[in-house]
Amino acid sequence: MQNYFCYICIMNLSKYTRRECCEVRIGKTVIGGNNPIAVQSMTNTATADVESSVAQIERIADAGASIVRLTAQGKREGEALRDIVAQVRKDDYPTAIVADIHFVPEIASIAAESVDKVRINPGNYRTSGGELEALIEKCRKRGVALRIGVNHGSLAKHIVDKLGDTPAGMAESAMEFLRICIREQFDQVVVSMKSSNTRVMVHAYRLLVEAMEHENMSFPIHLGVTEAGNGIEGRIKSAVGIGALLADGVGDTIRVSLTEAPENEVPVAKMLVEHFANREGEFEVSHPERYSPTEYRRRTSAPIIAHSEITDDYIIIEATSGNPTAEWRAAILNNESEQPIVIRRHYEGTRDEVALHAAADMGQLLLDGLADGVWIDAPQLSDEELNEIELIILQASRARFSQTEYIACPSCGRTLYDIEKALAEIKARTSHLKGLKIGVMGCIVNGPGEMADADYGYVGAGADRISLYKGKECIERNIPQEEALERLIELIKANGDWKSN
Ligand code: SF4
Repeated sequence: MQNYFCYICIMNLSKYTRRECCEVRIGKTVIGGNNPIAVQSMTNTATADVESSVAQIERIADAGASIVRLTAQGKREGEALRDIVAQVRKDDYPTAIVADIHFVPEIASIAAESVDKVRINPGNYRTSGGELEALIEKCRKRGVALRIGVNHGSLAKHIVDKLGDTPAGMAESAMEFLRICIREQFDQVVVSMKSSNTRVMVHAYRLLVEAMEHENMSFPIHLGVTEAGNGIEGRIKSAVGIGALLADGVGDTIRVSLTEAPENEVPVAKMLVEHFANREGEFEVSHPERYSPTEYRRRTSAPIIAHSEITDDYIIIEATSGNPTAEWRAAILNNESEQPIVIRRHYEGTRDEVALHAAADMGQLLLDGLADGVWIDAPQLSDEELNEIELIILQASRARFSQTEYIACPSCGRTLYDIEKALAEIKARTSHLKGLKIGVMGCIVNGPGEMADADYGYVGAGADRISLYKGKECIERNIPQEEALERLIELIKANGDWKSN
């Protein structure tokens, strides 16, 4: 029996409409309702270092973000937030400041005395014992917002036991906390469902939209793909996941997570928001029952291709309207043939603009199993550049894997080694290992859980110290960073996964 509140009933498949939700005030920034989609980022300075953190917040704000988050892992960091907020205001920045709390309810309570929003992870924050109720009361008194930030890979044990580490588990994890917020009549709540796996992430958000509608909730949504990595791969992966949801009007604030300086994230996020600002066109969908938005179902079993591999067996559908994602989706769902379909579109602009826009438009069709190939028409780029972008889009959408996958966290105040340099060096030595997933994570506290199903892990264990993982098992602990890359390669070789370049 069809659930009345399925995603297809809630969202308009024919034309772009933003999901209706209530407004949430985060300091001077208001999200949800009819407000523009807000761009945000996160510092990677040590939060206890007030001067560096303030300088980085201001650089992020100058780049165009209206919300900045800082990790607060201990009392020292929680208390430093007060000085950070005071200095940022003194410098005349209205930027909303958010504290990121993972394990210690006491720190959330300290942070709520100075910041504009507190983010908690339901995976390591209890619903019992009145901890959440106490935090809500604290937030209510000062007008502080709350984010229920679920991460794939750090779900609570009782959720994993019941629903597994799945999109459904992620949605239920958020709903448990949202029900308490409703019971406490607290509506200044934002919710997120992040994963480094774009398919898991998109399905989790859609299930959350369904579940909230079913229980008459309308909280705004924060979008992000975690551990997206760096460079063009990180940008495309974020554009695929975030774009797939923005294309349907889901999302009120976004963060593009890159393993780079946080201010680099902001122009990418702004480009995505602008890309979806004017979605025009209406496309009738005559067979919505063929669409499966919360469960992966491929339309054909044909090989997934880049445009250089096209043969006569593939139908080409070109989108020319101001809403290419809806145009392709309607055309594919209405198509009676069983032939594989390549989606094609003309793009103007630089390599980065083409990559980001094409990923944001095309990713959804690949994540949903509707398209069998992509064709980016951009004669200003070389064939090599176009082929590279298409292959990265296919990989980011989990449709076809042609190179090593890196699950690299953006780093934060918990990171005590040079992760940007480490990721660049690891990529230079291992990018030919097609089919392998390598996690490069900033800290031992959240890294091992959040690198999800990586085959190997390179995880920060202390100041310039690294621990190496094979799957979920820690194989070597606290190696000096300068030795860690060679030891990682030895580990890959010892397990028979190394290939010569
Ligand atoms: S995994 Fe990375 S981003 Fe997450 S808490 Fe650790 S250092 Fe910060």
